[in-house]
Amino acid sequence: MSTTPKSLYRDEGIVLRTQKLGEADRIVTVLTRRTGKVRAVAKGVRRTKSKFGARLEPFSHVDLQLYTGRNLDIVSQAESIRSYGPAIVTDYPAYTAGTAVLETADRLTAEEKEPSLRLFLLVVGALRALSERAHPAGLVLDAFLLRAMSVAGWEPALGDCARCGVEGPHRHFSVPAGGSVCRECRPTGSAMPSPVTIGHLEALLSGDWATAEASENAQCREGSGLVAALLQWHLERGLRSLPLVDRSDVAPRAGSGPAA
Ligand SMILES: [Zn+2]
Repeated sequence: MSTTPKSLYRDEGIVLRTQKLGEADRIVTVLTRRTGKVRAVAKGVRRTKSKFGARLEPFSHVDLQLYTGRNLDIVSQAESIRSYGPAIVTDYPAYTAGTAVLETADRLTAEEKEPSLRLFLLVVGALRALSERAHPAGLVLDAFLLRAMSVAGWEPALGDCARCGVEGPHRHFSVPAGGSVCRECRPTGSAMPSPVTIGHLEALLSGDWATAEASENAQCREGSGLVAALLQWHLERGLRSLPLVDRSDVAPRAGSGPAA
């Protein structure tokens, strides 16, 4: 008799990434709604007739049946709920932003099987917005990153001082301190971003898209830089995908694009 009884469970999730395993199998990393991040083996998916193969690609929202294994769980069934991939991979800004969303979700869930419903919902929301071109891809990404940091307990201070809490707005901004800082608390090397940029980040965090989309190109760029610096500060290693994000569709009304 086996000493580790297999137990079957069902969950839905977003496929974050896949890795080859042996000749025909794949390890899929899925951020699930109820179980948290799960790494599981999908057997035979690289054979041409596999019914799993196409469903278990990054950006796919799938309904899974799994059984627990000794190290990795095993996928026994996969049904597609919605595949965001086809709409995302055909648009370069959406694709690079989406890739950064998936990598961030993977990196923020260091522990497997630790439920994070809020992060799951943020990922689904970001992929939906990217696939539907609801907003410029770079803004969708920055809003996702700000909210994901907030879910992780790292919400940046954008009004009151990050250190002493004295009421803002403050002109100084320190990534190591966690955001806006007052004159007394500001560490050496603090930046002085435009107050309009801080307003832009507040709009992204709160979902005020009318304000965020009205921002000038310069504010979007400065805001993206602050968001990236805050995130990299919290993560042990930098994100590979973040420097590759194509933000050319941000603030298209600034008219910096090539004349076609
Ligand atoms: Zn202070």
